[in-house]
Amino acid sequence: MTPDMTSNSTSERSEAYIALGANLGRREETLREALRMLNAHAEIEVLRVSDLYETDPVGYADQPPFLNMAAAVGTSLAPHKLLEAMQDIEDRLGRVRDIRFGPRTADLDLLWMEGLTIASEALTLPHPRMHERFFVLIPLADIVPEQEPSGLRTLVDDSLIELGEASGIVRFGPPLFP
Ligand code: ADP
Ligand code: MG
Repeated sequence: MTPDMTSNSTSERSEAYIALGANLGRREETLREALRMLNAHAEIEVLRVSDLYETDPVGYADQPPFLNMAAAVGTSLAPHKLLEAMQDIEDRLGRVRDIRFGPRTADLDLLWMEGLTIASEALTLPHPRMHERFFVLIPLADIVPEQEPSGLRTLVDDSLIELGEASGIVRFGPPLFP
């Protein structure tokens, strides 16, 4: 038996896509820190990151504009464990900001994991609203390869065609790296 077959950390690596957003405090620094924290996790490696986009808030209009981006990560974590790691990062970044009872500084959503479907309250995959949000689809389009094997490229392209002309989103800057 090879060492690989007994070790969790080196077994079965999958590719996951994550949406990151921030609209309070130092938004770029928050996103950069979130990428650093993801990459610092022993079982997560940040593979590709999109450009940064500034977007009008969707839902509650009475809040500052968001910076949004997407990242592709390689991970040996199971989906629920990856989401837990992401939520831990949200919590750590939120505490740094010290905005009492305010909205969280960083939002990390798990979008797609090799086409896996999960329907629990804690985790729904694919993310149920990804196909209707420019602030998810436009960053994703930067980093999903043409030949992505589980069909994500088709989903992104078809959803963008379905939505029509983009509004409420402008390119803000080049990719942040961990
Ligand atoms: P939102 O991102 O929709 O503004 P939250 O970040 O507060 O809202 O997430 C609310 C809940 O959504 C979390 O408790 C989380 O467990 C659940 N959830 C379900 N599916 C997902 C997913 N794919 N990515 C992130 N959170 C998810
Ligand atoms: Mg979220």
